Amino acid sequence: WEAGFYENLLLKQRLELDPEEVRQYFEFTNVTDGLFTVYQRLFNITFKQIEKPSVWHEDVLMYEVFDDETNELIGRFYLDMFPRANKYGHAAAFSVTMGKMTDAGYTKPTTALVCNFPKPTEFQPSLLTHDNVETYFHEFGHLVHGVLTKSPLMNYAGTSVARDFVEAPSQMLENWVWQKESLSLFAKHYNTGEVIPDELLNKMLAAKNVNSGTKALQQVFYGVLDFTLHDGFDPDGPQTITEVVSFLQNDITFYPYQEGTHMEAAFGHLNGYGAAYYGYKWSEVYAQDMFSIFEKEGIMNEEEGLRYRRIILEKGGTEEPI
Ligand SMILES: [Zn+2]
Repeated sequence: WEAGFYENLLLKQRLELDPEEVRQYFEFTNVTDGLFTVYQRLFNITFKQIEKPSVWHEDVLMYEVFDDETNELIGRFYLDMFPRANKYGHAAAFSVTMGKMTDAGYTKPTTALVCNFPKPTEFQPSLLTHDNVETYFHEFGHLVHGVLTKSPLMNYAGTSVARDFVEAPSQMLENWVWQKESLSLFAKHYNTGEVIPDELLNKMLAAKNVNSGTKALQQVFYGVLDFTLHDGFDPDGPQTITEVVSFLQNDITFYPYQEGTHMEAAFGHLNGYGAAYYGYKWSEVYAQDMFSIFEKEGIMNEEEGLRYRRIILEKGGTEEPI
C-alpha cells in the first residue's frame, strides 16, 4: 500500500491533478452520446433506442443495432448503468443471446452492459470519473464484439476467442478516451459546455504514465507466478509457494518481498483462469499494435474501423489466431 500512497503524493504535488475537476467534463449523457458517435461511425452501424422496452428494471435502456450499408437489424443491447440494491457490483458485458446460424436464419446477438456509475439526481447530474469513462469504452468494446459477430457457431461467436486475445479489442478501444479528437466530441463541461482544456488533458496524460513501468513489471510478475505454479512447481517438493513468490517478486519487480506476507492467498486469478493471467498483458500488445493503425490513419477513420469490424469483431473465434 505504500506504493499507492507515494504515487498519490506524486500525482498531487507534481501534477496538481484534481479528479473532481476532471469529472465535471464527463457527464453521463454526454459521454454516452460521444461513445455512441465513436462506435457508430467507426463500425458503420446505427443504434436506435427502443421505446418502452420489456426490461428487468426501469433504469434499463434497450437499443437495436442496424448495419448502415444494408439497413439490416444486426443485434440488440441493454444498458443497465446505475447501482441499485442486490445488483452485480462491477462493470461487465454479459451475452444474453449469442449469435448463431439456425435453419430459421441468423440468431441476432444481444448483450447487456452492466455498470455502476453514479446515478443522476434531481440536483446533481451523473458525473463520471475518467476511470469510469475508460471502463465504459472498454466494456462497450466487449459489447460490440458480441453484437457484431457473424460466427455460424455460438461457441466461436463474439468474445469466444483465445483467452489471451479476448481483452485486446476492448483495450484497444480504451485509447479513444485519451485522444483529443474523440474527447472533443463528448468531454464537455456539464455547466458551461466548454471542451476539456488541453492543459487538463496533458496533466491526465502525464498522470497516466506515472509508474507505468513498475506497474507493467508487477503484471509480468503476476503472469510469471501464475505460469510457475502451473507447471514449474512441485507441491511435494522442498520449496513452499511463498518462497516462489518471494523469489519471483525480488527477481522481477522493484518492490522487495515483505517477510510474513502471502499475496498468493489473495491472488484470485490463480483459480479458474487456466494459467492465463498473462493474457491481460499479452492482449495489450495486440491492442496497441492494432491501435497503431488508427494512430496512423486517423482515430475516426471509418475505412479502418470497418476493416477492423470485418477481420476482428465479426470473425470472433472462427479462425485460428496464429
Ligand atoms: Zn474486459
